[in-house]
Amino acid sequence: MGIPLVDSTHDPALRSWVASANAPGTDFPIQNLPFGILRTGGHARGGVAIGDEILDLPAALAAGLLAGDVARAAEAATGEALNPLLALGRPGLRVLRQRLSAILAEGSEDRAKAARCLVPMAEAELLLPMQVGNFTDFMASRYHTGRLGRRRDPQNPLPPSFLHLPIAYHSRATTVRVSGEPVARPHGQSAGPDGAPRFGPVQSLDFELEFGAVMGPANRLGEPIPVARAADSIVGYCLLNDWSARDVQRFEMMPLGPFLSKSLSTTISPWLVTADALAPFAAPAFAPLQGDPAPLPYLMDTDDQATGGLDVTLRVAVTTPRMRAEGAAPAIICTSSLRHLNWTFAQMVAHHTSNGCDLRIGDLLGSGTVSGPEPDGRACLAEVVMEDGGFTLPNGEKRVFLEDGDEVTFTGRAERPGRVPIGFGRCAARILPARPWPTA
Ligand code: MN
Repeated sequence: MGIPLVDSTHDPALRSWVASANAPGTDFPIQNLPFGILRTGGHARGGVAIGDEILDLPAALAAGLLAGDVARAAEAATGEALNPLLALGRPGLRVLRQRLSAILAEGSEDRAKAARCLVPMAEAELLLPMQVGNFTDFMASRYHTGRLGRRRDPQNPLPPSFLHLPIAYHSRATTVRVSGEPVARPHGQSAGPDGAPRFGPVQSLDFELEFGAVMGPANRLGEPIPVARAADSIVGYCLLNDWSARDVQRFEMMPLGPFLSKSLSTTISPWLVTADALAPFAAPAFAPLQGDPAPLPYLMDTDDQATGGLDVTLRVAVTTPRMRAEGAAPAIICTSSLRHLNWTFAQMVAHHTSNGCDLRIGDLLGSGTVSGPEPDGRACLAEVVMEDGGFTLPNGEKRVFLEDGDEVTFTGRAERPGRVPIGFGRCAARILPARPWPTA
């Protein structure tokens, strides 16, 4: 069952002896404790974010801070990817998270030992948290889908199946990259103004504000996962930018769907926020709008409808080279919420596996562009361009799609009155100019 499990690790009164973890705006209070891979001195290993610091898990093991099941879980996080830890599923991550909460809490008798296992986050390189097996990208916001569909059919902007199943395509795992790695403008084929094909640096480079779910132990080939069990197969969440070349996409995607317009690169945030850490932020699933058909029973579960959503606010900030030269603050160009997703992640997993397709540990599922109904909730530029032709930054600079040197940063906060908000870190990348086309 995907029953949210709220325990002492979520206590709003809990504070850490790591002072930066108690700062009001931090993404990483002691109630969060997300897992990632850090590298210092050429050595990559697992760690846990706490305030502005990272608790080095191999160091904590060596210091004798972890024993029994907890030590076994931490040992699974000593390598260069978290897949062995993810393989322990939610129960394995839970025992480790609970022990780490005790170690890092104010008044802990392990403080002195644990303090020697801290690495300042600013001094560490953060790597991709897991080796991504497969990457499936959904399209779960009716507001995103509807805005883009309006040009095709203003009366029926949603595709016929949208309200009956979570639409998705198989994207590319090898090009998933961690926040901070730049994205070079790719080359691609598209239709020129006269309709004749052209090939060159893409002209309509876009971001898509998405939320990613990371799979733990799920299913074997041929064994569907019912919605009621699906939430428990997800072990962590991250921010995800599904970079999109719109000019290439328009030309290539009929009738087999997006290909090179999407596989160019995907950026994810470096910290996996555990499903347990998000338990206090469980929310009802999207409430059907008037006239919506009821989905078929295999996609419906009472508990999932009551608690399968998440109260997470997402934001997109942009800086241009000129803004950085002028010392201007990043411009927030979108604020949205996971409440706008028409489908829960449990429904996505259930649908994905309904034909027996097996999901593997470390597989990544993207939510699709998390757009809301209001103009400030347009979560990719294609929607903005379609409605307004482009946008203007606070310093007067105009943009249609992204230009070389622009940097796009996603942030996210799980928030609920009476709870300590938790965040996801940054999902950021800068656009580099296209590389010269290789010569023979
Ligand atoms: Mn997408």
